[in-house]
Amino acid sequence: MNSKKTDIMVIGLGLAGMVAAARAAELGKKVVLVGKGAGSLTLSSGGIDLWGYSLEQPEKPALSPRHEISRLVERNKDHPYAKAADVLEDSLAFFQAVCRSAGLPYLSNGLGNWLVPTALGTLRPTCLVPESMAVPDLQQVARILLVGFAELKDFYPAVLAVNLQKCGCLPSGCRLDIADVRMSGREMNAVTLAGRLEQLGVLEEVVAQIRPHLTPGTLVLVPPVLGRARHRQVRENLAALLGCPAYEVAGLPPALPGLRLSDALLTHLKRNGVTVLSGSTVHSVRLDEQRRRCLAVQLAGPGGRLEVQAAAYVLASGSFLGGGLKAGPGLVQETIFGLPVQFDPDGWACEEFLDRRGHAFNSFGLRVNENLQPVDGEGRVCLENVLAAGAILGGSNWPVEKCGNGVALTSGYKAGQLAAGGV
Ligand SMILES: Cc1cc2nc3c(=O)[nH]c(=O)nc-3n(C[C@H](O)[C@H](O)[C@H](O)COP(=O)(O)OP(=O)(O)OC[C@H]3O[C@@H](n4cnc5c(N)ncnc54)[C@H](O)[C@@H]3O)c2cc1C
Repeated sequence: MNSKKTDIMVIGLGLAGMVAAARAAELGKKVVLVGKGAGSLTLSSGGIDLWGYSLEQPEKPALSPRHEISRLVERNKDHPYAKAADVLEDSLAFFQAVCRSAGLPYLSNGLGNWLVPTALGTLRPTCLVPESMAVPDLQQVARILLVGFAELKDFYPAVLAVNLQKCGCLPSGCRLDIADVRMSGREMNAVTLAGRLEQLGVLEEVVAQIRPHLTPGTLVLVPPVLGRARHRQVRENLAALLGCPAYEVAGLPPALPGLRLSDALLTHLKRNGVTVLSGSTVHSVRLDEQRRRCLAVQLAGPGGRLEVQAAAYVLASGSFLGGGLKAGPGLVQETIFGLPVQFDPDGWACEEFLDRRGHAFNSFGLRVNENLQPVDGEGRVCLENVLAAGAILGGSNWPVEKCGNGVALTSGYKAGQLAAGGV
């Protein structure tokens, strides 16, 4: 088996792993980043949710996610933010700087949340969004034009229109119209449609169908399909052809904004000297005799088998979806190191699928100390040179709290920084 030595090895190609690798590389460390597949970022809306709803009134969007988090960490010491919120501002600034340099700027709405329209016509509270989703305050808008594509079956502008009107977020007198665009007649998903729109001729044909519906002052909302690799160009061309602002709504998976962010971070990592081994699965680990430290991690990938020896390891292998956890009857296991998992054998899920409290299995995961080192039931560090970040951390219920990418970002940043400092 071939072997490779590095300062830091990061396991996981999701947001937590990529941010950990980027931060460690920025601090001058040699980093190897591995993942067996893409992270759940590639399925997500692409927004960075910090905290979605008020702690006191969970039906109300959080006006200040930072305020909610500072109150949360006082009352819930097991939440991942209780271990990583000390780097919250640094991690957000780092992320925005990386995205800007990668040509995909992410914008904040002051200290508050954006309320981003979704494909279902709800408003999603999220903290950082790509420029293409930074919709201005809908209360100031006199006319909205929703653009649908007959060939795209994941986006129904009529549903969006009805629900936007119902949610009471539009000023009285605001007009809402729909433009139905027809293309080839063949069904497409968001990714194939985004590829087609990268061709200027196709975009011009689309705009020719939209233009008759435009009047001065119209805000145009489109599904998230404005290109992938040539996204910036597609947005510029669209704005020039339309002569008015157009924004993407938050869509269903596969969602281009999440894919674009993943692409941009990977490009940044490679440019900054990180060795990225995608399609590589960690199948075993080698520990020292006392089982206190990890000595090496063994991988199987496209290039064959490889052993990577590092001074420190960041475990960012996700939850059940990413593959970091697996479940059997009455049992939840961490799949790589066999670390102890915090879970409730009697409380996995609520009866109602859409229960507001969220299903408990989303909060199963590792317990960590202030240094993000996994600990056992008595609080003892399991492996001294292994840190954990992202969705593998227990204690947060991201689908209801709306903090998935926020936890991945802050804990990934902190883990990369601590690993670089020497664990
Ligand atoms: C459909 C969907 C939509 C979402 N939308 C949003 C949203 O709009 N906003 C938001 O803030 N959050 C959203 N979330 C939540 C958010 O995406 C996640 O909480 C967060 O991105 C988790 O990142 P992660 O890096 O911790 O884990 P993951 O993204 O799950 O990454 C885990 C990585 O580990 C790798 N891995 C696992 N085991 C191994 C192994 N043995 N060897 C090698 N590699 C391994 C996986 O291949 C993967 O690359 C969404 C989640 C889903 C599922």
